[in-house]
Amino acid sequence: MKKRLQNILAHAGVASRRRAAELIESGRVMVDGRTVSEKGYRVEPEGHEIRLDGRLIGEEERKFYFLFNKPKNVISTVSDTHDRKKVTDFFKHVKARLYPAGRLDKDTTGLLVITNDGQLAHRLSHPRFEIDKEYLVTVEGDLASEDVKRLERGIDLDGKKTAPCEIKTVKRTGKLCVFRMKLHEGRKRQVRRMFEEAGCRVTDLKRVRYAGLRLGDLEAGQYRDLTEKEIKRLKGLAGETVSSEQGGAGV
Ligand code: URA
Repeated sequence: MKKRLQNILAHAGVASRRRAAELIESGRVMVDGRTVSEKGYRVEPEGHEIRLDGRLIGEEERKFYFLFNKPKNVISTVSDTHDRKKVTDFFKHVKARLYPAGRLDKDTTGLLVITNDGQLAHRLSHPRFEIDKEYLVTVEGDLASEDVKRLERGIDLDGKKTAPCEIKTVKRTGKLCVFRMKLHEGRKRQVRRMFEEAGCRVTDLKRVRYAGLRLGDLEAGQYRDLTEKEIKRLKGLAGETVSSEQGGAGV
């Protein structure tokens, strides 16, 4: 998705958004060898050579924010000794050190935020910020309504009670049952372990919402840029104060 050149420069920490616009208008910025001085000029942030006074603005200095639909059999860690497929393998063309904000199990699909904004990734996965998450959980068997209520109130996992959550039945098909589960915690394999504790094996787990972002109709393995508004809101959720000059994607 194309972004305003002034916002890309602001993201790279070159100058505030307003100052970046002035730099562009005074003819000091080049894109792929051509001086660009138009106000509001837009360019894809990836794969272009952007220079200020001849100095290359490296992609690694720019901030990228993606909403990714993680497929099955892909791991969320950035390095792996077993040569398994990683979420970052889908972003090899982006010359930046990307991280997922939080993790999904290898067999879980769905929404992951991928960014090189280390501070945001770290904060979003910190329990303190209680980021909202929503999963579609397919299980073998069924849950009695008392078990649903018990899980919602909280059960003991690793000696600590889980925080209240919400579980609604979506559908029952033969031997399988699909639930929609909303929670604010993100303990290791929490959803799978909670259902297992109630006697149901999770056969499919998909995260459809995270931090107010929805997966929508993005196919597994696809991603999109977060909008400037979404980035700004995420930063707000993660307790970052966002100035109108440099916030989000330069909003
Ligand atoms: N809970 C799980 O059990 N697995 C995930 O990947 C995410 C939440």
